[in-house]
Amino acid sequence: MSDCLFCKIAAGEVSCTEVFSSENLIAFRDIAPQAPTHILVIPRMHISGLSNLTNDQENLAGELLTTAVQIAAEEGLDPAGYRFVINNGEDGGQIVAHLHLHILGGRPMAWPPG
Ligand code: AMP
Repeated sequence: MSDCLFCKIAAGEVSCTEVFSSENLIAFRDIAPQAPTHILVIPRMHISGLSNLTNDQENLAGELLTTAVQIAAEEGLDPAGYRFVINNGEDGGQIVAHLHLHILGGRPMAWPPG
């Protein structure tokens, strides 16, 4: 989508601090980190959010999760632990309408979230 910020990042039209890149996914550091480690993992394909995932994107959804686990390990977040967050929709706190998984780590996380 031409007006989507994360599509522009995936296309290399907007710069980012990339930490991972593959055929289907890209991961980069969040511009406003909420923890010492804060990385976003996104599909290159435009999917507006979790609600827009379709059954034929099961493999992509799995790849998003397992890649995030791999990145968290590479970032040294094991065995201390970390949190994955996917905000969905307005009440979910989603600002950018392109599916993204937050990897947060490097400090203890509070519960419940705000
Ligand atoms: P969400 O509220 O789940 O939609 O999260 C959007 C995230 O994108 C926020 O944590 C922002 O700080 C982050 N963000 C917005 N613009 C950029 C950017 N240009 N590069 C990296 N992260 C960004």
